[in-house]
Amino acid sequence: MERIVSLNFDAIVVLSLQGEVVYWNEASERIYGFPTSTILGQSVIEKIVPTEHQNRAKNALDQFVTQQRSNAEWHRLEFEAQRAEGNNIWVEVRARLFDGQPEPQIVTISRDVDKIRRRHQELKRAATTDFLSGISNRREFQRILESKIHQDICLAILDVDHFKAINDQYGHLEGDQAICHVSKSLVDHFPDAFCVARLGGEEFGVVLPVDQLDVVTERFEQYRQEFAISETLEMTSKVTVSIGLAFNDSTKPNVRMLLTHADQALYQSKRQGRNQLTVVSSD
Ligand code: GH3
Ligand code: MG
Ligand code: MG
Repeated sequence: MERIVSLNFDAIVVLSLQGEVVYWNEASERIYGFPTSTILGQSVIEKIVPTEHQNRAKNALDQFVTQQRSNAEWHRLEFEAQRAEGNNIWVEVRARLFDGQPEPQIVTISRDVDKIRRRHQELKRAATTDFLSGISNRREFQRILESKIHQDICLAILDVDHFKAINDQYGHLEGDQAICHVSKSLVDHFPDAFCVARLGGEEFGVVLPVDQLDVVTERFEQYRQEFAISETLEMTSKVTVSIGLAFNDSTKPNVRMLLTHADQALYQSKRQGRNQLTVVSSD
């Protein structure tokens, strides 16, 4: 029986109520990297929890023991453990108090979920970011816009002027570079934005919290004036951007309306000659 437990694919670790290692199976050696002989009697927290999280982990252990004394049941957590070799891995741990002599012990079963977790994070990242520029994509933009619509926000939609001509004159690759340049300049100029996204082609959306309407408007106007792809990418002709800006009425939140207003404002900027900012307020 003892042999079967020791061969289990999951790490089985038994701890004293103070968190000292009482039992450590083979899988624990593999997952955490510490040979059994070096860890028996040691504080598990000091061994496998990164230094900066150790105090928090010790408090959590005390709380866990108190709570389990009145109601012992399996408790699940995920955390980033530090291996003997120094690298970190995500583990999923199940733990509960079991009767033992002279006092109860903590039984834990942990599993290496590092690959699954990193894959999951990678998929999430891929689903929410634009492949070319690395900023948020349209889907993420829509999600954030909906989640912030009850606050005082503004939505700016920006579109590069005569972009077809840029592609024609400099080639598609240079055009791609210009798109990345705009993305970066927006992220730099609006670090407090809830979202800076590429909505498609050379069209971008910025969702920003609003304190004062005129301050926000001025920030976009300043961005438009300072916008300068040409110098960065060594283009001979001047490249400009048109902006449509709309404000939300948080007492009557309406995502569709805000999008429509920003779109209309952008259309007006284009129609009136491009390289300008148009503001539509929600009324
Ligand atoms: P306007 O001032 O009216 O905006 O004129 P425009 O030429 O910019 O017109 P529009 O916005 O309709 O055209 C966008 C062009 O952007 C069309 C397409 O060839 C180009 N484009 C779309 N996606 C990409 C991309 O990923 N890379 C590059 N290089 N070009 C793209
Ligand atoms: Mg355009
Ligand atoms: Mg466009």
